[in-house]
Amino acid sequence: IKKIAVFTSGGDSPGMNAAIRSVVRTCAYMKVDCVAIYRGYQGMIEGDFKPMDARSVNNIINKGGTILKSARCDDFRTKEGRKKAYDQLKKEGVDAFVVIGGDGSFTGALKFNEEYDFPVIGIPGTIDNDIFGTTFTLGFDTALNTVVEVIDKIRDTASSHNRLFFVEVMGRDVGHIALNAGVGAGAEEILIPEENLGLERLLESLKRSKASGKSSSIVIVAEGDKIGKNVFELKEYVEEHLPIYDVRVSVLGHMQRGGAPSCYDRVLASRMGVKAVESLLEGKSNLMVGVQDNKLILTPISKAIKGHTKIDKELMRVSDIMTV
Ligand code: ADP
Repeated sequence: IKKIAVFTSGGDSPGMNAAIRSVVRTCAYMKVDCVAIYRGYQGMIEGDFKPMDARSVNNIINKGGTILKSARCDDFRTKEGRKKAYDQLKKEGVDAFVVIGGDGSFTGALKFNEEYDFPVIGIPGTIDNDIFGTTFTLGFDTALNTVVEVIDKIRDTASSHNRLFFVEVMGRDVGHIALNAGVGAGAEEILIPEENLGLERLLESLKRSKASGKSSSIVIVAEGDKIGKNVFELKEYVEEHLPIYDVRVSVLGHMQRGGAPSCYDRVLASRMGVKAVESLLEGKSNLMVGVQDNKLILTPISKAIKGHTKIDKELMRVSDIMTV
C-alpha cells in the first residue's frame, strides 16, 4: 500500500479532525502517501482530492466539525456511482481508505470493498455512540460534556423558579447520551428508547420529588424515548395530571454535535488513526477500530453496522438510587 485516502462522511462529530490529523501524520511517519477526500463519498465520485503531508493538519486537533466537510451522497448507493468513485481513486493512485463516520458510511465502505476488493478501515465518528464494537465513538464524550454543561445552566434557572424542565437530547435509537448525561447532571428521570418506564412512574417520581422538598426537577428525554411522547407532549401531560408543577421544555438540538473535542475524544482519535493506518499496512481490511476496556480492538464492519453497544443497565439503577 503506497497511498491512503482519508475522509469524513455522514453526520459530523467532535474529534473527527483529530482523527484526520492522526491518519495523515501516521502516514507521514510510515512514509506512505496520504490524500484527503473532501465531502465524503460525493467528493470521491467527483475526484475532490488533496494531497496531505504532516503540516497539512496543523492546528486542527482542537477544532470541532470536520475540515474535510461531510456530505450525504445518494450516487454512492448505486453501482454506477461506486464505479465512478473507484475510477477516481485509481486515477489518483489510491490503494486503500480510512472512512471516519457512522453506520451508513460503513455500509457504503463495505459495499465498495465487496465490489472492488478495496482495502477499507473505519473509525467510528458519531456523538450517538450507536455502533457495535466500541464502547466509545468519537464525539460521544464531548457531546456528554456539552449536554451536562447546558443542563447545569438549566438547573440554575429551574431552581430559581421552582420549575420542572423536560430537556430533549439526541438519541433516536439509543439512550447513551440521555443516560450518561442524565446521571452526570443529576436528572430526576431519564427517558430512553431502550426502556419504557411508563407515565405512571414518571408522575409518581415527580410527586415524590416535590413532596421531599426538591425545588426543581430536570427530566432528560432522548429523541426516541419509548414512553411515546415527545417533550412538548410530556409537558402537556404533566401539566394536566400534576398541576403543582410549572413546566418548561428545552430542546438541545444540533449544538450537541459542535464544540471543541474533549481531551478523551482527542486521545481516542489519535489512537484510532494510528491503528487504522497500521492495520491497512498490515494487510487488514473491512474492519472498524473500536475501544474496549481502554484497549483498541478491531471488529468486522459487517458486525459493527448490525447493532450498537448496549446501554449500561447498572447506570439506570444508579440513577434511581440518586433520586431517592
Ligand atoms: P452516517 O455515516 O452518519 O450513518 P449516513 O447514513 O447519512 O451517515 O451515510 C453516509 C453516506 O454513506 C450516505 O450519504 C451514502 O453516500 C453512504 N451510504 C449509506 N448507506 C449506504 C448503502 N446502503 N450503500 C452505499 N452507500 C451508502
